[in-house]
Amino acid sequence: MTDFSDLMLDVVKVRRDFPILDRQVHDRPLVYLDNAATSQTPHQVITALDEVYRRYNANIHRGLHTLADEATEAFEKTRDTVRDFINAADRREIIFTRGTTEAINLVANAWGRSELKAGDEVLVSRLEHHSNIVPWQLLANQSGIVVKVIPIDERGVLDMDAYRDLFTSRTRLVAVNHISNACGTVNPVAELTRIAHEHDALIMIDGAQAAPHEPIDVQAIDADFYAFSGHKVYGPTGVGVLYGKAALLEAMPPWQGGGEMIDQVSFETPTTFAAIPHKFEAGTPAIAEVIALGRALEWVSDIGVSLISAWEQRLLSHATEELSRIDGLRILGTAPDKAAVISFVVDGAHAQDIGLLIDQLGVAIRTGHHCAQPLLSAFGVDATCRASFAAYNTPEEIDIFVESLDRVLGMLR
Ligand code: PLP
Repeated sequence: MTDFSDLMLDVVKVRRDFPILDRQVHDRPLVYLDNAATSQTPHQVITALDEVYRRYNANIHRGLHTLADEATEAFEKTRDTVRDFINAADRREIIFTRGTTEAINLVANAWGRSELKAGDEVLVSRLEHHSNIVPWQLLANQSGIVVKVIPIDERGVLDMDAYRDLFTSRTRLVAVNHISNACGTVNPVAELTRIAHEHDALIMIDGAQAAPHEPIDVQAIDADFYAFSGHKVYGPTGVGVLYGKAALLEAMPPWQGGGEMIDQVSFETPTTFAAIPHKFEAGTPAIAEVIALGRALEWVSDIGVSLISAWEQRLLSHATEELSRIDGLRILGTAPDKAAVISFVVDGAHAQDIGLLIDQLGVAIRTGHHCAQPLLSAFGVDATCRASFAAYNTPEEIDIFVESLDRVLGMLR
C-alpha cells in the first residue's frame, strides 16, 4: 500500500478550491480522472474571470480610459507570471495563443515557412500528440520538408541512439513533447535539446502535459520554443502560451495579420510590424482568459509544482499497483520516468465500453486514441482507457476507480 502520510499536500484543502468536485454524476460523487484532457478550475480562477466581466471588461492596449487601462495592466501582469512560471529570461519571449496547438502552428508557419526549404528535415517523435505532428506534415506538403520519426521502445521511451543517428546536415528542428499525454513518458528534454544544438538544429517542445506536473525552466533546458495550454494547468480554455527565444522571435515574420501586430499600415509604403511579443498577437486576444491564466499559475505556484508532482507520483504508484491486480489488464507506457497518466487495455473488453459503463458509476476517464494514433499503433492498439491525475485526486478516489473498473469488467467479460 502506497504511503501518503509524509507529504505536506493538504488534499482536503486543495479540493475545497474546486466547486465542481462537489457535484454528483449519475447520483454518485464525481471521480474526475480525465485531467490530461482538461483539469478542473479552482474558484480563484473562476472569480478572476467573473471579475473581468463585472468590473473592468474592455479591449486592451489601445484604450485611454480607466477600464482599458486596468484590463491592459492585468493582461500584461500575466505575461510576467508566465515568465516566472517557466523561468524565461524576458517577458517579450511570452506570446499568448489559443493553446498548445496554435502555438505549434505559429512556429510551423512563421519560423518554418520562412526558414525551411525543400529537403530540410524536422525530427518528430513517435510519442507526439497530433498537434505536434500534423503542422509539420502540412509544412511538408507545402514546402517539401521531410518529417523523420524518432522511434520508441516497448516501454514508450525514446530511443536515444536512433535519435542521434537521425541527424544529418539537413536537420533543422526537433519537435518533441516534454511529457506524453497518452502514456506519461517524461522525455529528457534538456538532453534532447543539447543533442539538437550540437547539430545546429532548434527544438520545439510541447509542454502541454508538463506545465501542470513538472517545474519548467526554459533557460535550464535551453529550449528554443516551448508551448503549453491554460486548461490543462487549472486555467481556462481558449488560452495558451508560446515561449520563444527573443532573437528567434525577432527574426521571424509574423504569422497572422491584423490589429495589434502592426507598427504602421500603409498602401504607399510597406506595412511595418510591432515589436515582439505583439507581432505575434494579432487581433483581440482572450483577455479574461489570459488574466485568469495568471491566477491559475499563481494557484499552482502557491502550492508548489514539486509538491503537486510528488503527490501525483504517489497516486500513480497506488493506481499502478491496484490496476496490476486485475486479470488481463495491460498498462501501456512503463517508462521509468513517468508522469501521472496511466493508459491501459483489458483483454475481452473494449476501451469504449469500459469508458461508457464506468461513467455510469460516476468515474470520468478518457478512452480512444488520445490524439496519438502513431503511438497507439506502435503499441499495437487503436484505443486505450486513460486515467490521469491532478493535485485534487485522492487515494480513495483511485480505490473507487479500481473497484468500479472491476464491476464494469464483470459485466463485460
Ligand atoms: N500536446 C499534448 C501533449 C497534449 O496533451 C495536448 C492536449 O491534449 C495538446 C498538445 C493540444 O493541446 P490544446 O488542445 O490545448 O491545444
